Amino acid sequence: MTVTDNPSTPVPLLLLGRGADPTSERGVECPGDLPAASDPDLVERARAARAALGERVFVLGHHYQRDEVIQFADVTGDSFKLARDAAARPTAPYIVFCGVHFMAESADILTGDHQQVVLPDLAAGCSMADMARLLQVEDAWARLAAAGVADVTVPITYMNSSADIKAFCGRGGGAVCTSSNARQALDWAFSPEGAGGQKVLFLPDQHLGRNTAVLQLGMSLDDCVVIDPHKPDFGVTDQELRSATMLLWKGHCSVHGRFSADSVADVRARIPGVNVLVHPECKHEVVTAADYVGSTEYIIKTVAAAPAGSAWAVGTELNLVKRLAAEHPDKTIVFLDRTVCFCATMNRIDLPHLVWALESLVEGRVVNRIVVDDDTAHWARVALDRMLALPGGGAVKN
Ligand code: SF4
Repeated sequence: MTVTDNPSTPVPLLLLGRGADPTSERGVECPGDLPAASDPDLVERARAARAALGERVFVLGHHYQRDEVIQFADVTGDSFKLARDAAARPTAPYIVFCGVHFMAESADILTGDHQQVVLPDLAAGCSMADMARLLQVEDAWARLAAAGVADVTVPITYMNSSADIKAFCGRGGGAVCTSSNARQALDWAFSPEGAGGQKVLFLPDQHLGRNTAVLQLGMSLDDCVVIDPHKPDFGVTDQELRSATMLLWKGHCSVHGRFSADSVADVRARIPGVNVLVHPECKHEVVTAADYVGSTEYIIKTVAAAPAGSAWAVGTELNLVKRLAAEHPDKTIVFLDRTVCFCATMNRIDLPHLVWALESLVEGRVVNRIVVDDDTAHWARVALDRMLALPGGGAVKN
C-alpha cells in the first residue's frame, strides 16, 4: 500500500515486517529462520554464541531494549553514547546493535571500514526518523528558498534521524544534536562564531526543538512555526517563514508524544510529593508541567542520585522505567502514564532475533548488515563532527 499525501513528496507506508521498501526504515522483512520464541534454550544459545565469538563481537544495547536482550549487551547507553562506544572498539569486526535502524547507521558511520554493523531485526525502525524523508526535506528547503529564507537558515537534525537527513544537514552547513546538547547546537547555529544563522530548521522532532528554544534559549512560542510536509506549502505562509526563528519539522516520538498534561496532574493527585521527570521529546505542555526534564542519561543519573524514599513519575520508554524501578527498590518509581507505552520498534529486537544474528556470525554469515553509502556517510560525518566540537550539556530543566 502506498499513501501519497503530497504529490511532490511520496511517502510509502508499509506495515511493519511486510514487504520490502529500500528507501524506508519500515516494512522490511527479516529473511532468517528465527528460533522459536518458546525455545527454552535461547538464553544458553545466546551465551554459547557470544562465547564462541569472543572479542570478535561487540554487543550494544540501547536503554529502551528489553531485559532479555540487554543482559547480553557489552555496554548500554543512549544512541550517541553507543555509537561512540562502537567507534572506541576498533578491534571488534562485528558490532551487533540492539537498538533501531538510525542508531546502527550512526555506528556504521563512526566505525572503521573493517567493521560490520548488524541490526538483529531490520524492521526495528523509528517512527520519528521516518517522519522526515529526504525528498520531503529537500522540497521544504525549496519552499524556504522561495520565501527568501533558505540562505539565513541552518539545518539541525536530532540524532534520531536517518543518515541521509544527517548528510543533508552536513551539506547545508548544519549539524546533528542529541537531547543532551540541543541547546549548544542551537547556540552554535545562531552564533556569528558558529554557523551565523538567523533561523534554524529543526528536524525531525518538533518537541525537542520547541522545548529547547523556549526553555533554554528564552524564545517564545510565537518564535516557532511548524513545517508540515503533508500540507500544501508545508502549512506556512511566506510571512510566517520570514518572521519565525525556529522552523520545526512536524515530527514526534510516538512514545514520548503520548504523555499529556493530564498524565502529570493525574500522577500528582495519586502520589503526593511525587517528582515528575520527563524526556524533552515530550510535548511542551508536559515539560512545563514537569519538575525535571532531560535526556535518557540525565533521567538515569537523576533517579540514581535521588534520596531513598523519594517518589518519581518518569515519562520515557517503559522498558527503561521498569528497569529503573527494579534497580532502585528503595525509591518509588512509576511510569508517568497509566497506559502501557513500549516503543514498538525497539521491542522488535527480541531474544530469537539476537540468537539468530549471533549464531549466524558464528557460522561466518553476516546477516542484516547496515551499510551507509560513502557519500552519505561523508556528509553525515561532517554534521556529526560539528556536534562533537560542541561543548557538552545535560539537563533541559531542573
Ligand atoms: S522511543 Fe521514539 S524516538 Fe526512540 S526509537 Fe522509539 S519511536 Fe523512535
